Amino acid sequence: MVPSQQTSRGTVIRSTGSWYTVRLDNGANIDCRLRGRFRTKGLKATNPVTVGDVVTVDPGEKQDSASIIDIEPRRNYIIRRSVNKSKVSHIIAANIDIAFVVASIVAPRTSTGFIDRFLVTAQAYEIPAAIVFNKTDLYNDPLLEFMNELISTYTRIGYPCFPTSALTGSGMDELREMMKNKTSLFAGHSGVGKSAIINAAEPGLKIKTGDISENHLKGKHTTTFAQMHPLSFGGYIVDTPGIKEFGLIDLDRGELAMFFPEMLNLVKECQYYNCTHVHEPGCAVVAAVDRGDVSSERYRNYLNMLTGRDMQVNPWELK
Ligand code: GDP
Ligand code: ZN
Repeated sequence: MVPSQQTSRGTVIRSTGSWYTVRLDNGANIDCRLRGRFRTKGLKATNPVTVGDVVTVDPGEKQDSASIIDIEPRRNYIIRRSVNKSKVSHIIAANIDIAFVVASIVAPRTSTGFIDRFLVTAQAYEIPAAIVFNKTDLYNDPLLEFMNELISTYTRIGYPCFPTSALTGSGMDELREMMKNKTSLFAGHSGVGKSAIINAAEPGLKIKTGDISENHLKGKHTTTFAQMHPLSFGGYIVDTPGIKEFGLIDLDRGELAMFFPEMLNLVKECQYYNCTHVHEPGCAVVAAVDRGDVSSERYRNYLNMLTGRDMQVNPWELK
């Protein structure tokens, strides 16, 4: 394809299906259409381009004639099945640098099962993940101690943790530092404080609360557009209102342990190559749990995922 004039590079920050808003590397936004056919390798997708895609834009000769003419390979992407069990997927967002699961020890309490399912999914999507423990202003000493134990378990296996209070601002500088110049995604149960955290990180950024977006979805003729909000300190927040399917990914049960970083290297030492780490003799994972090298809570959540329905049903809410 011959560009009509100098092309530029940018990031798709909004997609309506036929129009795409691209933020160019010089900071300007430009609305584009698609030119040409784009395919995602190994995936049947309803949308060829998604928010987060890094693209080449041909500005065109006339006004409103800009088009996307090329897409850079994606580092990662998250998808949603278009219809139940359909083989066609909708790509929700691409090139996410970090996925935060927002948790709380109280009001509402987030289970470690929920956190671990999120981490497994992020691992499967090849998206670095981190945990935010919000509402620390509400924790008494035993709850703080409990949180600190969780933080030590999760940081040891490579997941950065951020204790925060969106209410008092405690811990927000550290979180902001982590978000700086990255594309971030926030997920977690309704009411844990995703909107409050985002607004504390970037005051004035009006992102809908979970409740509003859920009501919004009940309306018949509403369409929700994925978008990314630029941050004043650099980076973006992916905003995918009402989408709860971060967890809808098909994982092979036999490979589940590969998505637990602390089990990954042990798996090779199991006596049986197809060990599920449940009851097999000579299992290196079970031995590590017995030694205390693998958290028994994480292992229990592994077993729940292996045997439960968690692999299909994941009530995760994205922000
Ligand atoms: P979301 O559904 O995850 O987006 O949660 P919201 O941001 O709407 O917060 C749910 C409720 O928790 C609201 O009433 C907030 O004011 C409150 N909240 C959020 N963060 C904190 C916090 O750090 N401390 C306290 N005490 N309340 C918070
Ligand atoms: Zn094993």
